[in-house]
Amino acid sequence: MAERREYNNDRNGGRPNRRPRKKVCAFCAEKAAYIDYKDIARLKSGKCLTERYKILPRRITGCCAYHQRELTTAVKRARHLALIPYTSD
Ligand SMILES: [Zn+2]
Repeated sequence: MAERREYNNDRNGGRPNRRPRKKVCAFCAEKAAYIDYKDIARLKSGKCLTERYKILPRRITGCCAYHQRELTTAVKRARHLALIPYTSD
């Protein structure tokens, strides 16, 4: 009856808590009203795409909702115009 189980209560799996740095949207910082789909260098260098040209999620890019949406449409437009590949393979 006196069975005692060891539960791992901390959901972190024993890893130390890393406080996420508050990221500021790179496009807000430079007051970009829209993201130019022709500006591929910016999309690539600005940590918006992986090396396989996938769009990085917001938790990585740190973009605000508005600019992440703009970024997605810009990348999709650029893909459609074959400015960037759909995949790198
Ligand atoms: Zn923004």
